[in-house]
Amino acid sequence: MARKKKVSKYVELFDETLKLVNKQDKPTLLLQACCAPCSSAVLELLSEHFKITLFFNGHNIYPYAEYEKRLTEVKRLVEIAIHDFNAEIDLVVINPQIDDYTNKLAFGKDMKENSVRCQVCYSMRLKETLDYAKAHHFDYVTTVMTISRQKCSEKINTVAEKLMNLYPDLTYVYSDFKKRGGNTRSSELCKEYNLYQQQYCGCLYSLEDKIRRDKEKEIDE
Ligand code: SF4
Ligand code: SF4
Repeated sequence: MARKKKVSKYVELFDETLKLVNKQDKPTLLLQACCAPCSSAVLELLSEHFKITLFFNGHNIYPYAEYEKRLTEVKRLVEIAIHDFNAEIDLVVINPQIDDYTNKLAFGKDMKENSVRCQVCYSMRLKETLDYAKAHHFDYVTTVMTISRQKCSEKINTVAEKLMNLYPDLTYVYSDFKKRGGNTRSSELCKEYNLYQQQYCGCLYSLEDKIRRDKEKEIDE
């Protein structure tokens, strides 16, 4: 007999949150994002339940040409979401501080993705998102980042949980968007809408790591 898969704690918390949401009078949600592929399936899922403001704080995207490419795709995705997912959605773009951000992450230049460097990165971008949500009186706030297969959802949710102590009036939507086929759905949407799919997460150090791995592969072949 096939064993039943254990449901992630964060999938259960997500379901609990949705039970409290009134679909007829959708509450507002600030949704942090830094690329279109990670945003696609999350937008499709959440637009049924919330009035969404996509919060693009892509300080982590290096270099600037790559940042612009990703922002263009996010803008295109917002139009797709309005027309094809019936989404009520706005976009807020934060002025990118790429050099400053790159310096702040330099302590982890030799670390791998999912390391302490990434936890600091989640924390900085989530803190900025929560500050904005508080200042603009959003009902709910969350991030698309748990959809990525390369990201540990537990680490992202734990960083958010610690920050939430500072924001008693906001509700954070805990998630594990990669579960229940979320990651597969995002690949399907990328294909369907021909969304640009980057080959590294974002920062200079993830780009250098990708170049290093490509070189190693070349040597092995
Ligand atoms: S790999 Fe991604 S999450 Fe990690 S530090 Fe770089 S940009 Fe941030
Ligand atoms: S893959 Fe990197 S750029 Fe895309 S949402 Fe996740 S953290 Fe942001």
